[in-house]
Amino acid sequence: MSSHDPDKVKDLYHTLHSHLPSEPALRVKTIENLLVEKGYLDQQTIDNWIEVYSEDIGPKRGAQVIARAWLDQEFKQRLLTDASEAIDDYGFLGKATAHLKALENTDSVHNLVVCTLCSCYPFSLLGMAPNWYKTAAYRSRAVREPRAVLKEFGVDLDDQVEVRVYDSTAELRYLVIPQRPLGTEDYSQQQLAGLVTRNSMIGTDRDLAKNMGG
Ligand code: FE
Repeated sequence: MSSHDPDKVKDLYHTLHSHLPSEPALRVKTIENLLVEKGYLDQQTIDNWIEVYSEDIGPKRGAQVIARAWLDQEFKQRLLTDASEAIDDYGFLGKATAHLKALENTDSVHNLVVCTLCSCYPFSLLGMAPNWYKTAAYRSRAVREPRAVLKEFGVDLDDQVEVRVYDSTAELRYLVIPQRPLGTEDYSQQQLAGLVTRNSMIGTDRDLAKNMGG
């Protein structure tokens, strides 16, 4: 015999809905299908594009830039002065970094990047934006309660550390320069790049020493 338990019904509802694609995802899929159907795009092009941005570019380009900045003070200065000019060296394709500002984390400052309006992101440097970056919850809470959001990402900051939140736009995007972990004096640029996480360049990760292993 089953009885009606409103809590169970609510749980079931949430469980089912958590498996459905988000509304923007469904909308994008519908537009994509229409464009393919009308012959403006073909599926192979879309698949190739997604593969390049998620597999080849990923956050690896950004990690290379950070590792170089850690090793080369002159490059770091150029990055902080005009990040778009500095990364021109690499000739990365894509317009999403045409106006890029680098933000340096220090012992007393932590930078966090959000796009409150939509999901502006330096994708030619960091690849595809993570899904959480596009959620309404992150976009609103990163501004309202950045410390609580950071804590949920595992970044537990002392009260003395100032949190600066930057709102990306289509005109200006940001790259956080995380702190180089102590004890990496002997690391090669490649090894250093291996420590840099995507989230650390958005600001939802801070202590990279945990990636040193051993
Ligand atoms: Fe945006």
